[in-house]
Amino acid sequence: MIEYRIGSMNPAAHYFDITLIIPEPDPEGQIVRLPAWIPGSYMIRDFAKNIVSIKASSEGKEQPVVQLDKSSWQVTNLDSPLQIDYRIYAWDLSVRGAHLDTTHGFFNGTSVFLEVVGQAEKSCRVEIIRPECTGSEDWLLATTLPVDGREGEFDFRFGHFRAENYSALIDHPVEMGLFTRFDFMAGGIRHDMVLTGKFECDVERLKNDLTRICDHHLTFFGQPAPMNRYLFLVMVVGDGYGGLEHRNSTSLMCSRNDLPHPSQQELSEEYINFLGLCSHEYFHSWNVKRIKPAVFMEPDLSREVYTPLLWAFEGITSYYDDLALLRSGCIQLQDYLRLLGQTITRVQRGGGRKIQSAAESSFNAWTKFYKQDENAANAIVSYYAKGTLIALCIDLKLRSISHHRVSLDDVMQVLWRNFLSGQQGVTDSHIQDIINEIAAVDLTEFLEQLIYGTEELPLSDLLESVDIQLDYRAGSGQQDKGGKEEDNPLKVSTGMVVKEKPDGLEVLSIREKVPAQIAGVSAGDIIIAINGLRADMKTYETWLKRSSAGSQHELHVFRRDELMRFELKLIQAEENRAVLRVTDTNGEGLGQWLSGMAS
Ligand code: ZN
Repeated sequence: MIEYRIGSMNPAAHYFDITLIIPEPDPEGQIVRLPAWIPGSYMIRDFAKNIVSIKASSEGKEQPVVQLDKSSWQVTNLDSPLQIDYRIYAWDLSVRGAHLDTTHGFFNGTSVFLEVVGQAEKSCRVEIIRPECTGSEDWLLATTLPVDGREGEFDFRFGHFRAENYSALIDHPVEMGLFTRFDFMAGGIRHDMVLTGKFECDVERLKNDLTRICDHHLTFFGQPAPMNRYLFLVMVVGDGYGGLEHRNSTSLMCSRNDLPHPSQQELSEEYINFLGLCSHEYFHSWNVKRIKPAVFMEPDLSREVYTPLLWAFEGITSYYDDLALLRSGCIQLQDYLRLLGQTITRVQRGGGRKIQSAAESSFNAWTKFYKQDENAANAIVSYYAKGTLIALCIDLKLRSISHHRVSLDDVMQVLWRNFLSGQQGVTDSHIQDIINEIAAVDLTEFLEQLIYGTEELPLSDLLESVDIQLDYRAGSGQQDKGGKEEDNPLKVSTGMVVKEKPDGLEVLSIREKVPAQIAGVSAGDIIIAINGLRADMKTYETWLKRSSAGSQHELHVFRRDELMRFELKLIQAEENRAVLRVTDTNGEGLGQWLSGMAS
């Protein structure tokens, strides 16, 4: 049994102090290391850079520690238990890292627990100690790590926990502090939500909506459920959004305005997005935490692990996250069509869809999707957004050829049954084989084009089969995400995204072959004047509203510290905002698709 103790002697300095005890170290030299990435977030983060000190001892005698590389250390000449004491700097307020101050603590095991190389399969015991600071005596602790010695207990206290092996140890994030907590039952399973931060929330409303969402997913995949308890950990901040899936829990970050205020009656777009995030991460409990790419079965956490399959694991999850909100009655059809229209807009606005396939986007997640630069819209497509549309196309295709007898729902249920019967990981062709089998016709060419191709998706035709018409309109400004009608779309476009700065408008990105690029403007430039007048957001927007296609304009910009002048000829605004309309509200296809029922 490998033992860890984690606490903090100085939370104000953001340090976790950890002791690792290895009863049987490798006599040839014991290596310990910290992961370079956290499963679910495909970027090398080199968590070991936060180790500020490390020392080893054996039988009370200090042992030399040799650093081998950026993430690993070795202690040699041992024939007795080894103790390693180290200190970690935890000041990354995100769902991926570790964060500690005198108000709360949060960590992922990937940020704090050194792996004992060669002993990753051994079970672990963890003592989590209350950090030493004023007020911490009232802190509670939330995690799905099982309480040591008390099977199934769950009391939000500091103490001893256990994990069956290292991969389990790093898959149960921990939150500590003063938090708002509520629980509910769904599918006979205890669910908790723990919220930290400063906020006001209509907890009953949130609880009701979450219960519906969890019930939906549990029914969707059927018995048995993947977990016997579940925890939503939510960090509420001024401005933030994100989530990371774990086997029995999820870490979420949201803005305080995303939560339903007690005085709020209406269903805000922000609250819908938050429910969509909860739905997304919960769906991952099946799709990616259990049904997963074969290469993720025992991933090497020291380097990139490549897969073309994220279109399925993120895309299908993104497709069902919002669809489940509708099917469970949390949102109405018009809300759902707005969200879907926004996803279509996200894909269709970027030229990257014409040069990168969803499979390529997934494979290059490490260096492209997670490291987007100002040219991203021209060069890449999101495997989330395009993956959602691929899932939509597959679902509607299966429904259309089978008269709604089969759908993507069946594909997911087969994948889940295969997992339950012991299948170890999904390969590239596996999902396609299941789809073909369920379709009872060969859809290989159709699927290859969706997944590996860069042709336009057959969205209009497929949506028509469920009585939905897809149209495109011009945008009303750079903030217009599409998805709904707009009375005053702009007649012209510059093709730039700009942001107001004290000295002018910074060009954040610029699309290919648009007037601004043809004129010579570049991302990073600061526009200081338009037609001789000082540029700010207000003058920029007014200028666009009043201009017509073909008109000539003068821009003054700074590129670094060099003043430049450009002549810009505006063109007609591109119609790239998707709007979805129901053509037959009583359509049988529409009803079956949205209710998720097979005929
Ligand atoms: Zn996801």
